[in-house]
Amino acid sequence: MSQEKRSFQAEVSRLLDIVAHSLYSNKEVFLRELISNASDACDRLRYMALTQPELTADDPQFNVTLTPDSKARTLTIADNGIGMNRDELIENLGTIARSGTTAFMEQLSGDARKDMSVIGQFGVGFYSAFMVAEEVEVVSRKAGEETAWRWVSDGKGEFTIDEAEKPSRGTTITLKLREDDKEYAEALRLRTVITKYSDHIALPIVLQDGDKTETVNHAAALWTRSKSDITPEQYKEFYHHVGHGFDDPWLTLHNKAEGALEYTSLLFIPSMKPFDLFDPERKHRVKLYVRRIFITDHCEGLVPAYLRFLRGVVDSEDIPLNVSREILQANPIVARMRGQITKRVLGELSRKAADAPEEYATFWENFGPVLKEGLYEDMEQRDALLGLARFRSTDGDGWVSLEEYVSRMKPGQEAIYTITGDDLDLVRKSPQIEGFRAKGVEVLLLTDAIDEFWTGAIAKYKEHPLKSVTRGGADLSKIAASDEDKKDADKAADEKAPNIQSLVAIFKLTLGEAVKDVRTSERLTDSACCLVAEEGDMDMHLARLLKQHKQLDTAQPRVLELNPKHPLVSGLSAMVGKEGATDELREFAWLFLDQARILEGEQLPDPTAFAKRLSGLLEKGLIRPAA
Ligand code: ADP
Ligand code: MG
Repeated sequence: MSQEKRSFQAEVSRLLDIVAHSLYSNKEVFLRELISNASDACDRLRYMALTQPELTADDPQFNVTLTPDSKARTLTIADNGIGMNRDELIENLGTIARSGTTAFMEQLSGDARKDMSVIGQFGVGFYSAFMVAEEVEVVSRKAGEETAWRWVSDGKGEFTIDEAEKPSRGTTITLKLREDDKEYAEALRLRTVITKYSDHIALPIVLQDGDKTETVNHAAALWTRSKSDITPEQYKEFYHHVGHGFDDPWLTLHNKAEGALEYTSLLFIPSMKPFDLFDPERKHRVKLYVRRIFITDHCEGLVPAYLRFLRGVVDSEDIPLNVSREILQANPIVARMRGQITKRVLGELSRKAADAPEEYATFWENFGPVLKEGLYEDMEQRDALLGLARFRSTDGDGWVSLEEYVSRMKPGQEAIYTITGDDLDLVRKSPQIEGFRAKGVEVLLLTDAIDEFWTGAIAKYKEHPLKSVTRGGADLSKIAASDEDKKDADKAADEKAPNIQSLVAIFKLTLGEAVKDVRTSERLTDSACCLVAEEGDMDMHLARLLKQHKQLDTAQPRVLELNPKHPLVSGLSAMVGKEGATDELREFAWLFLDQARILEGEQLPDPTAFAKRLSGLLEKGLIRPAA
């Protein structure tokens, strides 16, 4: 077959353009990327060879060989891993297929400085070769196949592909180095870079310097070494390799379990939020090994979805090697490891929360919304998770734990009060929390989508029920008033709005089916009115969410609460019974309801009617002589 010319996917071209303008301050990381890929390729073949031993029979020792040639100014990186056939070369090196990539590409702005930090978190994998090479040639032969293929590109929009000669399986990458980067054709320089970034790689990295061959790394799986022999730098580089993240690990958990269940786990929590954290698939990134042999990155049962921010490896001594990936999902050993790993991670988080609350707050800001999924998914860990959860509240700007909340509860307060919404600033201003504020009763402000779901699933924390301030009665009368609120405000209100009950009755008659009820409010102090849900009804924010996602089409009628202390309400109640006032009061009933809907961020069912009423009444107000 003759040579074929192809174009890179548009995203790749864009990425290559950024790479070519050398955003990386330390170009040497290209080597860690290529060695990391070679190691992955060997891992994958080793697994296949468990069932197809003939694939590696001719050459069972996996390795990566680096051959610098300073005269030719080239560097060759060869592995005897799984290799790629023609289609795979095109797919893997011509497109970006990783999940989270769309989100990643959206963050690229074209501004070199900003993009640098985005790429710093994500890495550019194979394409980093173009930081030092003016041309990259990849010759690969897939294990078990006869034909080899050559992929060549200068990284400027196109690549070519044609048939090639290669006597054995695997991938050989040859970099034609730029004049400025010829240092990577020097054995000494390469040795330094390998020691720095790739020492943790479990297979031998062989440096071929003229006729001298030398294995440069430890070539033992990092997690099998004892903790005291591993430097923080080595942990970090291993995290980069295994987690494909380029930040520093926020937490490193290295542990050997012995006894009934024998396994080693080396797990990391990233310090930055990965781009695919909220992918609907909710896949974790912990690799499963069995006795040092890589089995899969997709063993769902190994880590619960709400810990999917974890990166790392679990290496089991107990699982039989011949187990198929499919059967693995239901394997009882996997389930038991999951239980232990979950406990260990949550335990470590709770230690961090106690010892380093500020660091813990950063973790919570990144991963709290994910961890909270466990509140409704994992009954067994619910208490532990409730202990780990942090919230914004009406009490200051910081994070609050439920324990702190409970310790600050007012005499007579039984429930933990919450309000849910989309936006912290808006939720803080909700009319429904005014009365709570006035009495000094703290309200937790919940603004993650997930909050709707777990608050519905969890009735209590310790003996305290969780209660939404937008639902049911406010119970505020049972709670002792704070010092500055000692005077009997309610009595004063009754005197101010003597006909309030008649006003309520007129509103109720007017609004009919549009509301569930109209009543006076305990929870309002500044606003004239608000909407609340009846005790057993669906939470208003949840109903809005479901409507947005077209899961709910009928509007749920709500309770309209009026604030008798508000001058507008007391003024209206004074109008009750006056001649000709009823029509006007009816108009106000609708205006109040629409106003409360607007405060909730709801769409008005009939905005034109609202505008007409509003201007009608304003007009009258202008024309009517001052009383
Ligand atoms: P990542 O390693 O994160 O998947 P890369 O850009 O580093 O992304 O590599 C892209 C893909 O190319 C890999 O997922 C793999 O399928 C393939 N690949 C790269 N290098 C090799 C190699 N040496 N042997 C086999 N496949 C490779
Ligand atoms: Mg890679």
